[in-house]
Amino acid sequence: IIRFSQVSKHFDAFQVLKNINLDVAKGERLVICGPSGSGKSTLIRCINGLEPYGSGDIFVNGLRVGAGKRGMSEVRGRVGMVFQQFNLFPHLTVMENLMLGPMRGRGMSASAAREIATRYLARVRIPEQADKYPRQLSGGQQQRVAIARSLCMEPEIMLFDEPTSALDPEMISEVLEVMAELATTGMTMLVVTHEMGFARRVADRMVFMDHGEIVEVAPPEDFFSAPKSIRTQDFLQKIL
Ligand code: ATP
Ligand code: MG
Repeated sequence: IIRFSQVSKHFDAFQVLKNINLDVAKGERLVICGPSGSGKSTLIRCINGLEPYGSGDIFVNGLRVGAGKRGMSEVRGRVGMVFQQFNLFPHLTVMENLMLGPMRGRGMSASAAREIATRYLARVRIPEQADKYPRQLSGGQQQRVAIARSLCMEPEIMLFDEPTSALDPEMISEVLEVMAELATTGMTMLVVTHEMGFARRVADRMVFMDHGEIVEVAPPEDFFSAPKSIRTQDFLQKIL
C-alpha cells in the first residue's frame, strides 16, 4: 500500500534521507525508531506530502506522492496523521473539531458528520467529552480526540509521529491502548515511537533508522532479541 523506491532528500548540503527502500503491505503495522535527528519524522512526513522529497519515488496505493495537486489531495485523503502536538482548534468543542474534516474535506452534511464524529469519539473511549473545549481535557484525552479526528476522514493509512512523547507518564498508556485497538481493526499503521512495550505487542515489523538510512527491518521477536546491526544494538542498549 506504500512503496519507497530509492528515496533521497537533502536540506541544503545535509542529506536527511539516504536511498530509502521500503514496502508496506495493507494492514501492516510498522514501528519506526532511531536516534534523534535520524530522519524518522521526515520519512513519514514524505508519505502524505508534508515534505517534498528530492529523488526516487513514493507510491501510496499506486499513486505517486507529489505528482500534481489532484494526486496529492487524493493521497492526503487516504492518509491520516497524528503528531506529538494535538493541534486541536481551541475555540471549537471536541464535537466541532471532529465534524470539521468530514464537512469541509468530505462535503458531508452536519448530521452525517455528527454521526461519524460520535462513532469515532466512542472508539477512542471518550464519548462523554463531546461538548467540552480542548483546554478542559487532559493531554491523553486531547490526543485521543486528535486520533478520532483523523479517523473521521476514514483513512486507509494512519501515521503517528511520537504521539505520546508530549504526555505525562500516566496518560501514555491510555493513548497506546487506543492505538493497539486500532491495530486490531486492520488499519495500516506507521508509528514513530520509543515505546518499546507497545512495539513488541503491536508491530509486525520494526524499522531502525540512523543518519537518514534504514539500517534494519525485522519482526519484533528478532529485532529485540537478536539485532543484526551494531548500530541497532547500541541504540537498544541505550533505550531499554
Ligand atoms: P527526533 O527523534 O528528534 O524527532 P527525527 O528522527 O524525527 O528526530 P527529523 O526530524 O526527520 O529527525 O530530522 C532529521 C534531520 O533533518 C535532523 O538533523 C534535522 O535537524 C534535519 N532537519 C529537519 N527538518 C529540517 C529543515 N526544515 N531544514 C533543515 N534541516 C532539517
Ligand atoms: Mg521526529
